[in-house]
Amino acid sequence: MADFDRFTNCVAGQSRQGPKVHRGIDPSTGKSLWDVPVASETDLEEAIASSKKAFAPWSKTSWEDRAQQLLLARDVLLENKAKMAELLTKEVGKPIQLAHLEVEHAANFLEFNAKQKPFEERIIQDDSDLKLTVVQKPVGIVAAICPWNFPLVLAMGKIAAGLITGNCVIVKPSPFTPYSILKFAELVQHIFPPGVLQALNGGDDLGPRLCTHPDIDKISFTGSTATGKKIANAAAGTLKTVTLELGGNNASIICPDVDPNIVAPQVAVGSFFNSGQLCVASKRVYVHEDIYDQFLKVMVETVKQWKVEPTSSLQEGIMLGPIQNQMQYDVVRQFFLDSASNGHQFALGETPKESPENFIIKPAIVSNPPDDSLVVTGEAFGPIVPVMKWKDEDDVIRRANDTLTGLGGAVWSNDLTRAQAIADRIEAGTVWINSFEKPLPQAHLSGYKESGLGGEWGREGLSAYTKPQVIHCYKAPVVAK
Ligand code: NAD
Repeated sequence: MADFDRFTNCVAGQSRQGPKVHRGIDPSTGKSLWDVPVASETDLEEAIASSKKAFAPWSKTSWEDRAQQLLLARDVLLENKAKMAELLTKEVGKPIQLAHLEVEHAANFLEFNAKQKPFEERIIQDDSDLKLTVVQKPVGIVAAICPWNFPLVLAMGKIAAGLITGNCVIVKPSPFTPYSILKFAELVQHIFPPGVLQALNGGDDLGPRLCTHPDIDKISFTGSTATGKKIANAAAGTLKTVTLELGGNNASIICPDVDPNIVAPQVAVGSFFNSGQLCVASKRVYVHEDIYDQFLKVMVETVKQWKVEPTSSLQEGIMLGPIQNQMQYDVVRQFFLDSASNGHQFALGETPKESPENFIIKPAIVSNPPDDSLVVTGEAFGPIVPVMKWKDEDDVIRRANDTLTGLGGAVWSNDLTRAQAIADRIEAGTVWINSFEKPLPQAHLSGYKESGLGGEWGREGLSAYTKPQVIHCYKAPVVAK
């Protein structure tokens, strides 16, 4: 039975402690969680050396064998589902039933990638003169740098795609939420050859070191746009391949032909799921003026009924837990202060305390704030959402696109042709029609504009972990007859 009170890095197939430790905080209580080692320079160098050694045989292991190992890892994850979900609730503050969903979703990523067909060699030309072929090769050693909002599933998307395509992966969790992914790496070490999957928790210097290390071939990063830009900059020094999944400010456009009683409760989930700490959450809601009042009323009534509480009791039925950390709590609070000081109307919610006993922020809905207000233009990444009116379709599409980011969006209409036409004009990598934002392993995710560079997930996402090699093979003899 695995020990869920002890956490280690994973280097060269071994669990590794170290002299330096730090502790995450349970955001429901503000109390410290378990010790977790902070990787040293030696840990990093040894992890990279181990991956370098493992890469050649792993990249030559058949796709089927690698898939088999991913499926074994999925089984181990699911066998430990209850304990992993508890870890997620403790480290992120998410309600236990939603933590269970995250573990299942992470398992789905392993399964989806394991069940992909291998990349075949493609023959471009084959005649008496020349055989021209292209193959996809793994990029090498991948550093997976992850955020704190969905620490298990976002890391797993990178691990599963990286490993199936024949790369070695070193995963670096956010120092706010290191526990679930370190435990996963430890639990599956016996499945993979040493050096194939390693996990390092670090201080603030580990991410930058991974990005500049000459032996790391690729950075797969999910996190904020500000950090993404630093990573692109740092990786330029060694011209690493970089995939960036960054922040967004998704707009949901609600057409007048929908029933607010059916749609408003779903849009509320899309806005506030995981206490708004979801990259593709509906962060701006645009409702047609004909149904605005009723829509707002139902949305407020829906959210008012939710249980918003600390989650560490592991009690089922809590809808929203706390914000994950103090820094983010302070960021979200600034959005409340800005709206309050500018006289915006709160249809629900009030400014949270400056020095709280925990990081709970009750959900807030701001009614019709101006387009240039912070709550509309900024990414709060917390439970405060503006609900605006619209009248003209071209104008609402212009407003939806009037942002530097382009991660996602949603359109709600009973007329699917109209919804498709609006979706087509949204400048974002993903648009949901008649659903709140539900990312899926089989659906590619990529951000337009400052929401990212490249993309991952889905069959297309595998390409991000490979590089093409073209062979020009001339057939004329090169010896005299
Ligand atoms: P963050 O950018 O602060 O940190 C993410 C990771 O980067 C952490 O592991 C951190 O230690 C590391 N890091 C920080 N500075 C670094 C540097 N200079 N070099 C290398 N690594 C560094 O992001 P966060 O606060 O953990 O996550 C929240 C943000 O992530 C939000 O903006 C959200 O929208 C975005 N996000 C995007 C997606 C997506 O798929 N597009 C998914 C989830 C979250």
